[in-house]
Amino acid sequence: MIPLCDLQIQYANHADELQRVVAEVMAAGHYILGPNVNALEEEIAEYLGCKHAIAVNSGTDALHLALRALNIGPGDEVITTPFTFVATTEAIGLVGATPVFVDIDPHTYNMDANAIERVVTSNTKAILPVHLYGQPCDMATIGQLADRYDLAVVEDCAQAFGAKYNGQSVGTLGTVGCLSFFPSKNLGCFGDGGMIVTNSDEVFERSEMLRRHGGKIKYHHSELGLNSRLDEIQAAILRVKLKHISEWNEARRRIAAAYTAALRGFPEIRCPSDLTESGKASTADVPLECVFHQYTVQVSQRADVQEHLTRDGIGSAVYYPIPLHLQAVHANLGYQKGAFPHAEFAADHCLSLPMFPELTNEQAGLVVDSLAQVLATPANQRIA
Ligand SMILES: *Cc1c(COP(=O)(O)O)cnc(C)c1O
Repeated sequence: MIPLCDLQIQYANHADELQRVVAEVMAAGHYILGPNVNALEEEIAEYLGCKHAIAVNSGTDALHLALRALNIGPGDEVITTPFTFVATTEAIGLVGATPVFVDIDPHTYNMDANAIERVVTSNTKAILPVHLYGQPCDMATIGQLADRYDLAVVEDCAQAFGAKYNGQSVGTLGTVGCLSFFPSKNLGCFGDGGMIVTNSDEVFERSEMLRRHGGKIKYHHSELGLNSRLDEIQAAILRVKLKHISEWNEARRRIAAAYTAALRGFPEIRCPSDLTESGKASTADVPLECVFHQYTVQVSQRADVQEHLTRDGIGSAVYYPIPLHLQAVHANLGYQKGAFPHAEFAADHCLSLPMFPELTNEQAGLVVDSLAQVLATPANQRIA
């Protein structure tokens, strides 16, 4: 069995230390927004290279509170990608604003920055790029447009902790960055968790207040906030894991490079674009450091390929089968099938292969062998 993602190995490798820090929190008696949360905020701000970090309940809340902190609400438009997890547009909708989609770049799966300007209106307040699968968006173009039209940039970094664009960590390139610590994310805790990172004092102060019922001083509430606090146990776990994240992201890049080297010869498979042998990518002369939350290929006959992998005991997944402009929840936005052909094509053809830092070369080789076998079989003979 080769799972898509194995969370148990990582726990087993660090069980002693993880159990010790959790026991310490339990004995200390301070369970929510305490010393571990404060320390984690400082350590992550330092790791990513930004001024402030505010720990919250989830990545979804981080997006929601970041938009609230920027005073984005009813009547406002936020430009984003239709090829992402629903939490991205859920946050936009929850503050009462309207998501406006642009198609993706078919090579990177990220929003096509060159399509943004066409949909900017007088109601546009922000651009919300998602660094999908751990690959940074075209932040130079997005930053230029944000400057030209006076827009905020909210980066969804849920899949891209530690990814770099031109040497700078994603999340620190825009106005505010939103992180998720969902267990399967590159830096994951043992429950839900998230974080807002920013260099803006204003966003910091507002989101810090909003995460605990909209008040700076206990029992004084100036606006409606949320209960969106991170607890000490999750923060203590994340502090242990943060020490290893660089090494884990490096391992993901190594595995990605091995996959790409092995799969390059298959005409039926399209590997993640622009990868060099080192697993680092470069577009438009800007150095990128991807963190491969997923290693996602495109294949035709995806259902056959996936069934064959499953029969060989190999996990795989489709992120995401229905682009957001075609989801029932967004039917009111009025987008039709065909509106974003690249996103729709990706939704029909993408397939994510096993990817986690502890995946061995031997396991990656078995994944490649299984793919080679199914692709060598004529399509009409594939279903046994
Ligand atoms: C996981 C994810 C989120 C939401 O994070 P949670 O912590 O699960 O709320 C948002 N956006 C993207 C792209 C994600 O992958």
